[in-house]
Amino acid sequence: MSNEVIHKTVVVGPLQCNCSILICPKTLEAIVIDPGDEAEKIIKNLDSGVKVKYLLHTHAHFDHIGATEAMKMATQATVCLHKADEMIYQNLPMQGRMFGMSFSEAPAIEKFIEDNEELKFGEQKLEVIHTPGHSPGSVCFRLSGSEERVFSGDTLFRQSVGRSDLWGGDHSLLIRSIKSRLMTLDDEIRVYPGHGPRTRIGEEKRKNPFL
Ligand SMILES: [Zn+2]
Ligand SMILES: [Zn+2]
Repeated sequence: MSNEVIHKTVVVGPLQCNCSILICPKTLEAIVIDPGDEAEKIIKNLDSGVKVKYLLHTHAHFDHIGATEAMKMATQATVCLHKADEMIYQNLPMQGRMFGMSFSEAPAIEKFIEDNEELKFGEQKLEVIHTPGHSPGSVCFRLSGSEERVFSGDTLFRQSVGRSDLWGGDHSLLIRSIKSRLMTLDDEIRVYPGHGPRTRIGEEKRKNPFL
């Protein structure tokens, strides 16, 4: 049996957040990145026998954490976030009000993830890359293996970058994070942003007008 990770993207919510599901094909242990909305739709993509270990968040904006509570109830997976986004996370109801949406409190954060930390699910490994700027606790996740890929949240988009006018955003820090932590990766690595189409590191080095 191939050890190639099973990777599904589920587009959720009014802001069309890319929620990523990664499943270890050998053990069926899985992680979910950015369960922003529509928990039922995410759960439908978890085939029977799949056990979600971590609910990971690239950052704490509502469009990335809106279904965390429902996913926690459904999977009992461990809720993970970088500590620098804790305040934003705890203000989910206020975030919703600003955008005309209603949210209850997000569930407790059970694990603070740190820069360079390795997260294992089954035989697969994800590395945490702290990339502050879009928010203080924004991170990217790098999946190692034969088909390396990066989940860039709202830090890096295809030919664009994240906004920095929300809670704790900092544009020059954002650009520094991208240049020092992402543009130093191999050109061939595929990038899956929090919104919109995927890209590659090399394509962004050549074509991204913000860099
Ligand atoms: Zn965001
Ligand atoms: Zn977003």
